[in-house]
Amino acid sequence: KRRIAVMTSGGDAPGMNGAVRAVVRMSIAQGCEAYAVYEGYEGLVQGGDMIREMKWDDVRGFLSRGGTVIGTARCMSFKERWGRLKAAKNMVIKGIDALIVCGGDGSLTGADLFRAEWPGLVDELVEKKELTAEQVEPFKHLNIVGMVGSIDNDMAMTDATIGCYSSLDRICESVDWIDATAESHQRAFVVEVMGRHCGWLALMAGISCGADFVIIPENPPSGNWEEEMCKVIKKVRVLTLLMTPQANTLKHRGLGKRKTVVIVAEGAIDTNLKKIPCTVIKDLLTNKLHLDTRITTLGHTQRGGSPCAYDRMLSTLQGAEAVKAVLEATPSTPSPVISIVENKIVREPLLEAVKQTQEVAKAIEAKDFARAMSLRNAEFTE
Ligand code: ATP
Repeated sequence: KRRIAVMTSGGDAPGMNGAVRAVVRMSIAQGCEAYAVYEGYEGLVQGGDMIREMKWDDVRGFLSRGGTVIGTARCMSFKERWGRLKAAKNMVIKGIDALIVCGGDGSLTGADLFRAEWPGLVDELVEKKELTAEQVEPFKHLNIVGMVGSIDNDMAMTDATIGCYSSLDRICESVDWIDATAESHQRAFVVEVMGRHCGWLALMAGISCGADFVIIPENPPSGNWEEEMCKVIKKVRVLTLLMTPQANTLKHRGLGKRKTVVIVAEGAIDTNLKKIPCTVIKDLLTNKLHLDTRITTLGHTQRGGSPCAYDRMLSTLQGAEAVKAVLEATPSTPSPVISIVENKIVREPLLEAVKQTQEVAKAIEAKDFARAMSLRNAEFTE
């Protein structure tokens, strides 16, 4: 029986468990044996009990659980050839020649490199007498299929990554809670959201929560943006603050809005690539508009909790497609990544998706923000 392994790697994302469940059950349904690699590439390098067979029942209840039950890790040794050599040995020992990786662009790059090196790795294992020629004979080629698990939605060639909509939901819910207290006290909140170098979460949260101002790395605020931001906020905002020395002098009512929310992506930068910390926004709102301003960093609450319906659906459909891709692969097929494009589950070339993703970072580094925006999803440019 063919043996297919699944692993989660890089940062955890809600929906990763759904992907593992789908791969395990689809593999079994297709007459294969399913294996889970625990703790990302660390499990592959360590081998033994870290690579375990999964039966149908072993993934029961996975669909609604947050994080990743089989664990994830950043594994330095897999970045080294000796680590990948150990990983290859462990896979051959377990009789596995197909690996489905659910992770970010780093994890997928590592997976494709592993595949490219595979024939050399198994030859070396025979040369070093760690494995026999008979042992490696059925495992001359490695099949790799990628699935993108990331809350950031930072991967090119897919409309959504597994986890991004759960994270967006969590952010919206948190901002709703913040809104209630902000409105009660007529306060301003600067909310920092995750996303690293990608502003998708911040931008979509801004739209979904009706934020007053959003700062994202792909389109940094330019010119006299500080004035601009204050003008936008002042237009809508009640500025008659209670219990401040300005209480009697400020009678501005704007459009009657009692709260202000500015959403800042954690990777927010200015046009000189200098980080814009939340404290800068807070000081502006406090000093220029006399708003009682607080900073809330949502932090890891954005990663946790159970996946939303969309991520359960996406991870299940993609997991099933990943197994199909393994079974249809030939030695010359480039490794695919399973994507969703215009609501269809499709296979895209993994390396091209990684390359395009890295182009965004390069465009930002080169201060070509128009290019960075155009390389992102359609939502950014609309
Ligand atoms: P996230 O988007 O959440 O950061 P990621 O997959 O990009 O996820 P990384 O930390 O970049 O996260 O990669 C996860 C793991 O993948 C690394 O710890 C390492 O084991 C492996 N990996 C990453 N890049 C490479 C590479 N170039 N070669 C080999 N292995 C790699």
